[in-house]
Amino acid sequence: MSSRHSNLILAGIVAGLVLAAAVVVLGPRALSADGFRRVVVVGDVLGQFFLLALRMIIVPLVLASVVVGITSLGDVRRIGGVGLRTIGFYVGTTALAVTLGVLVVLVVQPGVGMEHLVTQGVEIDDARMANIRAKQDINFGNLLLSFLSVNIVQALASGDMLPIIVFALVFGGILTTMGERGRPLIVLFEGLNEAMMKFIGLVMWIAPVGIFGLVVAKFGEATLQPGGLGGMIRGVGMYTGTVIGALLVHGVVTLPLVCWLLARRSPLAYAGAMFPAILTAWSTASSAATLPVTMDCVENRAGVSRKAAGFVLPLGATINMDGTALYLALAVVFIAQAYGIELGPLKVLLLFITVTLASVGAAGVPQAGLVLMVIVLNAVGLPIEGIGLILAVDWFVDRFRTAVNIWGDSIGAAFIERVICHP
Ligand code: ASP
Repeated sequence: MSSRHSNLILAGIVAGLVLAAAVVVLGPRALSADGFRRVVVVGDVLGQFFLLALRMIIVPLVLASVVVGITSLGDVRRIGGVGLRTIGFYVGTTALAVTLGVLVVLVVQPGVGMEHLVTQGVEIDDARMANIRAKQDINFGNLLLSFLSVNIVQALASGDMLPIIVFALVFGGILTTMGERGRPLIVLFEGLNEAMMKFIGLVMWIAPVGIFGLVVAKFGEATLQPGGLGGMIRGVGMYTGTVIGALLVHGVVTLPLVCWLLARRSPLAYAGAMFPAILTAWSTASSAATLPVTMDCVENRAGVSRKAAGFVLPLGATINMDGTALYLALAVVFIAQAYGIELGPLKVLLLFITVTLASVGAAGVPQAGLVLMVIVLNAVGLPIEGIGLILAVDWFVDRFRTAVNIWGDSIGAAFIERVICHP
C-alpha cells in the first residue's frame, strides 16, 4: 500500500477513536438507555466484522510468511545465529519487562490497604471463575506440548498458532536444503504471501469503522453497568493506574531504548510507522488479530524486509509478550500485597521464571494473560481467588498490555533486520 493511502487510513483510525470516545461520553446523556444500548449493539457488529476480516486471513498469512521468512534466509543450516538472537531478544526484553513490573509494584505497593476487598469477598462471575478453576491443571508440561499438534490440518483449522509456526519453521527450513526441487514450493508460498499482504491492504480500509465499533461496543457496555466505567475502575484504581503506568514506562522508555541501541532506528520514527498497529492492538486486545496490521506497518510503513518480519512477527505475536509478562508479575505481587502475604526473594525468583514462561504460553487473544495467571499464583503459593480482585478491570488493562506486546514484537523485527542485513 502506498504511504499516502496508509497515512489516510491512520487518520481514519484516529478519527474513529475520537468519534467513539464522543459516542461513549455523550451517548448516555443524549440518548435513552435503550437508544444507547442499540448504538452499542451496532458498534459491536461493526467491530466484529473488522475482527473477523482480520482473523480470516491470519492462518494463511502466518503459514506463508513464516515459510517465506525462513526460506529467504538461505540454507537453514547456516542461520542458527539469527534464531538464537531472535530468542535472545524475546527473553531479554521479557526479562526487562518482568523486572520493571516487580520493581514498580514493590515501590508503589498498590495492594497494601486493599484487605477490605479480600475480606468483603469480590464478586466474580461464576462462569468466569469456573473457567479459571478449570485452568488449574495447566502446567509447564502442557505448555511444552502446546508447541505441537496431533494433526497439522486440525491446527490450521482451529488456528492453533504455535504448532502452525513450528510446522512452518521446520517445513521452510527443509525446503532450503532441497535445492532446485524445493524451488516450486517456495515460489508457491511467496505468491501466497504476496497475495495475503494485498489482502491485508484491503482489510485496512475498514479499520477506521471497525476500531470505532470495537471501542463503542466495549466501553459503551462498561458505561451501561451499574457504577459505570468510573465506578468499575475506582474499586482497584491504584492497581489499574500502577499497571498502566508501568506498561507506559516499558513502552515509552525501555523499548525505545532497545530500538535505538539494538535496532539502530529512531524510536520516534519507528513508533510513528507502527501507530496503526499500536492503535489496532489497543482496540482489539488481541496480538493475533492485530498481526496482519503489524506486518503491514513493519513492512510497508517502516520498510523492514520480509526476510526479518516474515518469521519474527508471527513468532513474536505468539510467544513474545512483554506487556503480558509485566502485567502478570505486577498483578501477582498486587494480589500477595492485598492478602497480606509476604513474598520472599526465593518466591520472587520463582515468580520471575513462571511469569516468563506463562507469557510464552499466553495466546494472543483477549485476556489470555488473566487465565495464565492461575499457573503463576499456584507456583508461588497464592490463592487463585485473588484473580477476582482484578477481574473487573482486566479487559481495560488488556488493551494496554496488548499494545506493548506488539510494539515489542515490531522492535524485534527491526533488530533482526539489522542482524541479517547489516551484520
Ligand atoms: N491480549 C493479550 C494479547 O493478545 C494477551 C494477554 O495479555 O491477555 O497480546
